[in-house]
Amino acid sequence: MAGYIGRFAPSPTGPLHAGSLVAALASWLDARAAGGRWLVRIEDADTERCLPGVGEHILQQLAACGLVPDEAPVWQTARVDRYQAALTRLIDADLAYPCGCTRREIDAALAAQGIRHDRHGERVYPGTCRHGLNGKPARAWRFATWRASAPLVDWTDRRLGAQRQDVLHEVGDFVLRRADGPWAYQLAVVVDDAEQGITDVVRGADLTDNTPRQILLQRAMGLPTPRYLHTPLVLGANGEKLSKQNGAAAIDTGTPAAARSALDAAAQALGLPAARLEDGFQQALAGWVAPWADLYNPAP
Ligand code: GLU
Repeated sequence: MAGYIGRFAPSPTGPLHAGSLVAALASWLDARAAGGRWLVRIEDADTERCLPGVGEHILQQLAACGLVPDEAPVWQTARVDRYQAALTRLIDADLAYPCGCTRREIDAALAAQGIRHDRHGERVYPGTCRHGLNGKPARAWRFATWRASAPLVDWTDRRLGAQRQDVLHEVGDFVLRRADGPWAYQLAVVVDDAEQGITDVVRGADLTDNTPRQILLQRAMGLPTPRYLHTPLVLGANGEKLSKQNGAAAIDTGTPAAARSALDAAAQALGLPAARLEDGFQQALAGWVAPWADLYNPAP
């Protein structure tokens, strides 16, 4: 498809694990199947969770698997002015407000309403600071979901089909920036996807639930909504999804053979046919493009 731009956007909170390599490979294959470009963005905006040197290590791991971006990688920490400009626009439009609540206060307010957490164990912000801080210092900036024009978001995933989320009641007024500095993933990802002209987001299904928040932000800022495809999750031996949070092991890319077997496992997780062992990385990758397109219904 003319004009297709895809991306892989890892957070440098730990090296690539089997699950993140699946997202990297899927986004690369989708870009190739569409004849488009593939970018890599290191999502280090949430400075508290990121570790030094890990972004560079991830780029090396990708390169060891033959996955090289078509442009120099972008680092979010170099782009904070853009996030500030976006936040200022939202504040000016009355779509962002400061919040002075501690976690404890949020829990207490939710308990008083008989609610504790949403179905993922996250707090649905009860809206305490919507009408002012009442003398408390600001701890975070939140998106005013309650003022958004259509907080019931209907959207379509290229693999999962029709999706719906009531962001107001299922998520609430989510954080855009913490007062102590770090930018929230939701704001940074929306600003960057738009500014980089991303037409197709291909990422792991663990992020499916985040998409409606991102669509609301795109609408609030008058930005286009890319197409989305959330890939199947890779489960560990214990049946839980692989993530850095639950200690998924880094993939071994120390030798070409190790990198190749990590890549083969990622292809298998996507349901792609086995590549011949004697094929080099580029041949193996190229051989998966057509099967990918058959399986995942490429972008028009
Ligand atoms: N940086 C996010 C993560 O590593 C993914 C962002 C995205 O693909 O939208 O979980």
